[in-house]
Amino acid sequence: MKTIFLLVLFSLAIKNADAQTSYLLKADRVFDGVIMHDQWVVLVSGEQIEAIGPVGKIKVGVSTKIIELKGQTLLPGLIEGHSHVLLHPYNETSWDDQVLKESRVERTVRATSHLQKTLMAGFTTIRDLGTEGAGYDDVGLKQSIEKGLISGPRMLVAGPAIVATGSYGPKSNVTAIKLINGAEEADDQNIVKVVRDQIGHGVDMVKIYADYGWGINDSIQPTFLEEEIRKAVLTAKSSGRGVVAHASSVEGMRRAILAGVETIEHGDNGTLEIFKLMKEKNVAFCPTLAAGDAVLQYKGWKKGTEPEPQRIIEKRASFKLALKAEVTICMGGDVGVFSHGDNAKEMEMMVDYGMKPIDVLRSATSVNADVFHIAKQVGRIKTNLIADLIAVNGNPAENMSAIRQVTMVIKSGKIVKE
Ligand SMILES: [Zn+2]
Repeated sequence: MKTIFLLVLFSLAIKNADAQTSYLLKADRVFDGVIMHDQWVVLVSGEQIEAIGPVGKIKVGVSTKIIELKGQTLLPGLIEGHSHVLLHPYNETSWDDQVLKESRVERTVRATSHLQKTLMAGFTTIRDLGTEGAGYDDVGLKQSIEKGLISGPRMLVAGPAIVATGSYGPKSNVTAIKLINGAEEADDQNIVKVVRDQIGHGVDMVKIYADYGWGINDSIQPTFLEEEIRKAVLTAKSSGRGVVAHASSVEGMRRAILAGVETIEHGDNGTLEIFKLMKEKNVAFCPTLAAGDAVLQYKGWKKGTEPEPQRIIEKRASFKLALKAEVTICMGGDVGVFSHGDNAKEMEMMVDYGMKPIDVLRSATSVNADVFHIAKQVGRIKTNLIADLIAVNGNPAENMSAIRQVTMVIKSGKIVKE
């Protein structure tokens, strides 16, 4: 009896020691965030990456556990560049109904499950761009993950997006009805105050809408004036934060770029000239291919059996122009419009629309980390960075769908999926 008790204690002690000590990951290949290396290994110690290099070149202690990952590729934990964890697919519930009819509790409960699915899909960091009527609940979710109350990726959060007065939804034709807004309104008179207030609530970046479908016949037209966006940028910047802009029209994109935003989201009508301007001003592009694709299918397009709608043909063409202009391209699908955990859909579509698989892998790791100012923590497999790693079956640089075959997820050195 006593012996068994001691054995139990002993094995518990080993388990605890394991959590503190190191392990060596041996996969067929390692993508370090920039380059693919055959027959390399990664040594993890505690929460950090201790070393990376060719097999045999990394010295390991006798107590180091060796984890064999045969037939697999090791990568940095993926970074989702454009998510909405407080939304779920619009074919389940329309955006209006989510904002107007779902309780904040329901939305949070759903988000908790979305975060878990995202992490299990290999996305260890997300940039969540707008709560759509749920205030600063993204800040609360982020803190809950940091406190270990729920499981999920690292979060960079934007709180409510900032929109020009009158431009955003949901809308009612009954003028007496004052509906909840999916974002926060601001204008020239108060935009500095609104940005500061958001900073005070704990946002990591500010999201603005540079255009919206509020023109005649719901055409997409610019919302803020360039000076208004510039005020938001200057205010955010002086606190060490960036501004990201939703923009699809050429003029909306131009105003946002010239006003100094860091990324343009969507950019559906981007021209070669506007993408060249982005390149010149060092503004990154987050194309969100998967969202447009999903929305058109919700509207009845039978993908695969019916020809591609005009909007898809145009999106393919504008994406090619962005590649031609050599704009920095982020990986971000606007997930939430489609299912959380299906984030890899954007990566597959980027390849389908003409980007090299290795470049897509870079976008989802080192490029996103650079653009989002988190490269000193994550996005690469590099000595002293946080050990956020994933293993997938196969080689995603040859077949992007391999990125869905996630066999292992490591966050801060802790194996959260095995
Ligand atoms: Zn979005």
